Amino acid sequence: MAIYLDHAATSPLRPEVLEAMLPYLTEHTGNPSSLHAAGRRARQGVDEARETIAALIGARPREVVFTSGGTEADNLALKGVAWAASGRGKHIVTTAVEHKAVLNAASVLERHGFEVTVLPVDASGRVDPAAVADALTERTTLVSVMAANNEVGTLQPIAEIGEIVRGHRALFHVDAVQWAAHLPIDVDAWQADLVSLSGHKLGGPKGAGALFVRRGTQLLPQLQGGSQERQRRAGTEDVPAIVGFGVAFGLVHASAPEREAEHARQLDLARRLREALTDVPGLTWTGDPRARLPGTVSAVIDGIEGGDLVAALDLEGVEISTGSACTSGSTEPSHVLLAMGIEPHVAHGSLRITTGPTTTSDEIDRAAAILPGIVARLRGGVPAPLVSA
Ligand code: PLP
Repeated sequence: MAIYLDHAATSPLRPEVLEAMLPYLTEHTGNPSSLHAAGRRARQGVDEARETIAALIGARPREVVFTSGGTEADNLALKGVAWAASGRGKHIVTTAVEHKAVLNAASVLERHGFEVTVLPVDASGRVDPAAVADALTERTTLVSVMAANNEVGTLQPIAEIGEIVRGHRALFHVDAVQWAAHLPIDVDAWQADLVSLSGHKLGGPKGAGALFVRRGTQLLPQLQGGSQERQRRAGTEDVPAIVGFGVAFGLVHASAPEREAEHARQLDLARRLREALTDVPGLTWTGDPRARLPGTVSAVIDGIEGGDLVAALDLEGVEISTGSACTSGSTEPSHVLLAMGIEPHVAHGSLRITTGPTTTSDEIDRAAAILPGIVARLRGGVPAPLVSA
């Protein structure tokens, strides 16, 4: 069995989640908009998931809008608010380290006449709340800042930023897709108006996410059609996926002691991995050393290509990720690392190892034993074995 250390990309479906989903794929297959018994049964599954998630983030059930995932939630938040509030102003503030779902949605808005301020971050990937305050103008309608970064794990001072935005007329959107897999959410403590969530990052299925939309928030729906999700997101709900998302969310968040114990366990796994890699030549840790997600180990290694390292480790049965996005065969340095001031040639050598609930200490030991040798080989310029086309 391969050692899977890429939970920030997606975290395997939990067995309890699969079990909860199965009846909705086989028996309760009605359309939740149908009035008959089959429809009502499906509706019940969706409603239960909505209630679970709402209760665990300090929201009301009607403030939870189910989407197809984090990307759609981010797009709905940015475009939905920007267009709905465009009569008041057309200025949006975000940061340079956001997920592309936010940055590319903001770019589209820019092409449609909105002004977008992209705030810089410091070397650890953290945005300065004072910079948010400085960026706000009369025309600002939305501030979007992620809670935890998906590449380097840095946590942002969300409550502080929320306080600043609250004192202004703008709305506050938080992408909590990575945060929600490890840390509790209280939408009031953050003073957030919109919060994006995704099921598959926390042991749920792919294809289900949610956007918390605070009561009274004006939002222009991005999909036109039926009146599902209180007319905020048209389209027949993916009932099994939503049910699974609700159960997965409950498994992570329902018991604070269990979540904290798991947090401590993953912190320890990450610490052990870091210790084992400290002597790797040319390695620099990335992200904030303290304010970070527990299971994220991220670094750049001078003189190697992250993609080569991922491929070499894959051959050894260890699955990790690089911070670089592969676009049509060519590897571009990560926008997150560049924003943190890392030189493009160094950013090419990025690696991201992310643990999750299924990660064992034995797996960490095995990965730690393999990694330094592979890095040494790659730095020595020994090419990866040729694969004939
Ligand atoms: N936001 C962040 C911070 C993420 O890490 C991701 C996933 O990579 C997304 C948004 C998009 O979520 P999804 O894969 O559910 O569309």
